[in-house]
Amino acid sequence: MNKKLALGIDVGGTNSVFGLADEDGNLYFEESIETISCKVPEELVEKIYLRMKEIGQLKNIVGIGIGAPNGNFFSGTIEFAPNLKWKGIIPLARLFEYRFKRKAILTNDANAAAIGEMIYGAAKDLSDFVTITLGTGLGSGVVVSRTLVYGHDGFAGEYGHIRVVNNGRSCGCGRNGCLETYASATGVVRSIKELDSEHKATSKIMALEDPHAYDVFRFSENGDLFCREIIEFTAKTLGEALADFACFSSPKAYILFGGIAQSGQQFADKVKIYMEDALLNIYKDKIEVRISTLHDKNAAVLGASSLVWNQLN
Ligand SMILES: [Zn+2]
Repeated sequence: MNKKLALGIDVGGTNSVFGLADEDGNLYFEESIETISCKVPEELVEKIYLRMKEIGQLKNIVGIGIGAPNGNFFSGTIEFAPNLKWKGIIPLARLFEYRFKRKAILTNDANAAAIGEMIYGAAKDLSDFVTITLGTGLGSGVVVSRTLVYGHDGFAGEYGHIRVVNNGRSCGCGRNGCLETYASATGVVRSIKELDSEHKATSKIMALEDPHAYDVFRFSENGDLFCREIIEFTAKTLGEALADFACFSSPKAYILFGGIAQSGQQFADKVKIYMEDALLNIYKDKIEVRISTLHDKNAAVLGASSLVWNQLN
């Protein structure tokens, strides 16, 4: 095969997934390596380099895109990531550039997902949008005029830590009432404990020892009233927050991504109704709520590889 390819790498606390994608988002190769087995970051770089050499693809790689927790786009470094074994500041982009002799671009995983939607996914036709990743936490990427907003230090767009409830739930960041303590897989599970309802005692979810967010969605579809209330509450909290965020960048659409969003258009429609109710007049009936179209593909690797095409174009 002789084709221009981007090497996309999604660095995670346990595993790092890497793959080769072309400019149209076709994935030609994908594999994962245990991040925790690499004592130093150089080991990860070397393992991926040798694998690329082995499959004869080194010459086709035009650039390297890396999505990583606490990744800083400006410096190409991972800074004090709590879930990685490598401590302190890791110059990962530079290490890849040195070994591969190719340009490497690094950013945090939520930003990589936003660029991925723009190059390959649900935001192909949009110049102003915000991606909201509903996973363990809530990540976001803000795009204005087809440019990701980084802010002066690379940390712009942390919508998950905008406080939406005064003196609300305690958050991992040390503060209270952050959006992600409500609107995320973890937030949905906390709602099982923390929400009161007349239907709680009879809900099937209370019988599960270790319930997950998808159980709440599953039971809700089967008519469980308490689970329906939890989803309604989650959609309301998120929808009202998205209404307020519109004041910042006036997006054409919010694109929902991640486990909760995968439960489909129904959840997105609920979020949209609550958002419309709370929007300032000038924004009403103008903002769509879309579901990511990258779900069925490896979005993390595609998002990381899209950094390369975004840089080249
Ligand atoms: Zn927080």
